[in-house]
Amino acid sequence: MTGKKTRFIFVTGGVCSSLGKGISTASLGLLLEGHGYRVSAVKMDPYINIDPGTMSPFQHGEVYVTEDGAETDLDLGYYERFTGARLSRRNSVSTGQIYFTVIERERRGDYLGRTVQVIPHITDEIKRRIYDVAFEEDLDFLLIEIGGTVGDIESIPFLEAIRQIRQELTPRRVLNVHLTLIPTITVAGEAKTKPTQHSVKMLMEIGIIPDILLCRTNRVLTDEMRSKIALFCNVSERNVISAVDIKSSIYEIPYMLHANGYDEIVLEHFGLENSPIDIGAWDRFYHSLTNPRCTVRIAVVGKYISLQDAYRSIYEALLHGAVANEAELEITRIDSEDIEKACGGAPEQLFEGIDGILVPGGFGNRGIEGKVMAIGHARANGIPLFGICLGLQCAVIEYGRNVCGLEKANSTEFDQGTPNPVISLQEEQEIIDKMGGTMRLGAYLCDFREGSAIRRIYGAPSAMERHRHRFEFTLKYRELFEKNGMIASGIHPKNNLVETVEIPAHPWFICTQYHPEFKSKPTAPHPLFRDFIRAAVERGGRRCQ
Ligand code: GLN
Repeated sequence: MTGKKTRFIFVTGGVCSSLGKGISTASLGLLLEGHGYRVSAVKMDPYINIDPGTMSPFQHGEVYVTEDGAETDLDLGYYERFTGARLSRRNSVSTGQIYFTVIERERRGDYLGRTVQVIPHITDEIKRRIYDVAFEEDLDFLLIEIGGTVGDIESIPFLEAIRQIRQELTPRRVLNVHLTLIPTITVAGEAKTKPTQHSVKMLMEIGIIPDILLCRTNRVLTDEMRSKIALFCNVSERNVISAVDIKSSIYEIPYMLHANGYDEIVLEHFGLENSPIDIGAWDRFYHSLTNPRCTVRIAVVGKYISLQDAYRSIYEALLHGAVANEAELEITRIDSEDIEKACGGAPEQLFEGIDGILVPGGFGNRGIEGKVMAIGHARANGIPLFGICLGLQCAVIEYGRNVCGLEKANSTEFDQGTPNPVISLQEEQEIIDKMGGTMRLGAYLCDFREGSAIRRIYGAPSAMERHRHRFEFTLKYRELFEKNGMIASGIHPKNNLVETVEIPAHPWFICTQYHPEFKSKPTAPHPLFRDFIRAAVERGGRRCQ
C-alpha cells in the first residue's frame, strides 16, 4: 500500500483561541516543503455544522471555497497560500460531517445490530478521514489542525482519535504540537506559565502527551522560563519553542518559527536529517514586501468591514498584487451602509485619495445601495474598479440604472418584483429549498472574449475559477448592456453564463462573478489583482517615485 511513510503532525490549541494555529500550521507546511517534503493539511472543526457555508461571516469569518466546491474554514486558505498542497473537500472535516456519515450508515443497517457509539464508531470515522487524505496522496507529512481549544466538549472525540492514531502508528510517525499562550501581566511585566500548565494537564487527561509546545508570547522565552515550562509540562526543554508576536506581517512568521528551531525539532522527532532549507520563492516575495517603492491606496467597500477575517482572502490577494508591483498596500475599509447614511448619494469625501475601489462578495439586501453608489463613483471618475461576485452584480445594477435607462434595475435577491431583473436566479436554482451547499460552488471554466482586457491580463483564452453564488447576470439584457458599453467578456460555455463584465472605455473596470481571490498566492499573485493594483498605482502615481 502506498503512503506507508506518511507522518502525522497534530496541532491542538490551548488556553484561548486566535493564537494563530492556522498560520503556524501553514508555516510549518511551507518550511517542510522547503526541506523537500510533500505536505498537505487537514482542518478538523468540532462544531456541529456540516460546513461553515451557512454561518454568518460575523460568526466565522470568510468561507473559503476549494477547487471542488467545498465551503470550508478560512484556515484552508492559509494552507493553500503558504504551501503547494491542493486541497479538496476531504481536507475540511467537521463533527457534523462525521455524525452525518455514521448516522447514514446506521440507517442503512451497516452496523449489523451493534450499538453505535462515540468510541469506536465516531472515532473510527475521524481516523478514516485522516488516513484517506494521507494515503491517497502519498504524502511525507500530513498536518492536522484541530479547531477550538483543548477543554471544549466538542473536541473530545477528535482528541481521542489522535490518541488512538499515536497508539497505532507509534511516536515515530506521530507528533503532537500544542500551541499555547504565555501571557504577560502588564503591570508586573511577568510572563505566566500557569495557563499552559493547565492546558497540558487537560491534554494529558485525555491521554495525549505533547511533544512540542509552541508558546505564543510577546518576547522570546528565557532559558529559565523554558526549563520551567518543560518541567511542569513533561516536555523536553529543547521542544519548548517561542512563537513570538509578529507586528509587521504574517508572512514573516515562517522565518520566526524557523529561527526558533521549529522545523529542525520536527525533523529531529522523526529521526530525519535537518537538511538545508530552500524557500526561495517566499524569500523573493518577502524581500519585495519589505522593500516597497511606492504606496497604493485601495478602498474595500463591504458590509462585514468591521471584522478582519470576513474578507481574508481578498485582503491577502490585494497584498500579493501590491507586492508584485513593488507597492505598499494601504487598505481603507468602507462600510457600504456609511456611504448610504453619510453622503446621501455623494461619496466623494469618503473616496478622497483612493487609487482603486474593490467591491467584494456578500449576501442580502443590507448595504447594497452604498455599493452601487461606490461603483457609480468609480465609473464616473475613471477610478479602477474591481467587482467580485456581489460586486459584479452591483456593477450591473448600477450600469442598468444609470447608463442603460433601466430605472428600477435590481437583482431578484433584493427586489423580487423588480420590472428590470438584471440579476436573477437560473431556473435550476429556483426550486431549491435548502440553504447548505446549494449554490453554484467551486471551479468552472470561463472563456474570455477575444480582444477583451481580461483575456490580455490572464494572457490566456480561458481559466478555471471558483464560485460561490446563486444569482446570475440575466442573459436577455446582455445585448442592451453591450450596446451601451459594458461587455460580457467572460462566458461559461456550457450554459452561456456571464462570468465577467468590463467597460472598455474605462481605464480599469472589471468584474467577475467568480472569486479570483481564492487562487492568489504570495509566490503566484493572481493576474487580476496584480493588474488591478498596477492600474491603481498608475492612477495614484503622485505617491510613487
Ligand atoms: N448573493 C449573491 C448570490 O448569491 C452573491 C454571492 C457572493 O457574493 N458570494 O449570487
